[in-house]
Amino acid sequence: MEYYVGEKKLNYKRVLIVIIMIIIILLLIIFGIVIAQNHKAKKISLEAQKRAEEEEEIMKIAIETQKKEEEERQRQKEKEEEANATGIIYLTFDDGPTASSTPIIMDILKNRGVKATFFVLHYSDENEQYIKREKEESHTIALHGYSHTYSEVYQSADACMENFKKIGNQVYQTTGEQSKIIRFPGGSSNTISKKYCEGVMTELVTRVINEGYRYFDWNVDSDDAGHAKTSEDIYNNVISGIKPGRNNVVLMHDFAENYKTIDALDSIITWGLEQGYVFRKITEETPMVKHGVNN
Ligand SMILES: [Zn+2]
Repeated sequence: MEYYVGEKKLNYKRVLIVIIMIIIILLLIIFGIVIAQNHKAKKISLEAQKRAEEEEEIMKIAIETQKKEEEERQRQKEKEEEANATGIIYLTFDDGPTASSTPIIMDILKNRGVKATFFVLHYSDENEQYIKREKEESHTIALHGYSHTYSEVYQSADACMENFKKIGNQVYQTTGEQSKIIRFPGGSSNTISKKYCEGVMTELVTRVINEGYRYFDWNVDSDDAGHAKTSEDIYNNVISGIKPGRNNVVLMHDFAENYKTIDALDSIITWGLEQGYVFRKITEETPMVKHGVNN
């Protein structure tokens, strides 16, 4: 009897061990299945992610190609227009941005669908918005100088290069684009620089090109920084200066409260279009319009 009970106890123990082992094995199997499934799911999701990334890349390339084709079509269209036009007019505005002039000039340009070029000086945080708007509305933001003070700018060729670099950096901070189009304060033909550094312009005109810039003077002067007193003066100076069959680079200013130029602008555009001219902004492909150097 004793023996029997002992055997029974022993049997129970064995059965218990077997059950526990089965449970453990079952748990291990379940655990294994879960891990395997997880691994598979991860693999699938990784593959799906990879596929999505590849598709995104393909889409990006397709959009990029489409954009390039569209730009090329636009360029061709512009070239055709230019070939059939009386001539090309490049409106340029120096010494801005200013709160009183720049936005009104941009309003007029926008209204007429005309792109122009702004040769900018160092600007305050409040005026940064006008640079942003110039970019948004696809005008060319070109460099005039961090300073316009001749005694500083033309102290030496190094000082002038630094002056372009500094305004270039400020524009880059605002737009994320490095502008390579410049206009010397006073133009490359200025004689004022002689007072501060003999021969500086002669050195600068080759140096800026060597450093990757393209510089633009003008061949039509509105004289709005000089003798022009009224919007009629500006209008007459501009339309009498513009010549058919060439690139007309018109010098104007968006310095503060330049209302005489602002008031003439719309009429100048109307006149140009009626005469069969096209209006363009300066780009890196535009042939340089240069004065002769006098220092
Ligand atoms: Zn200037």
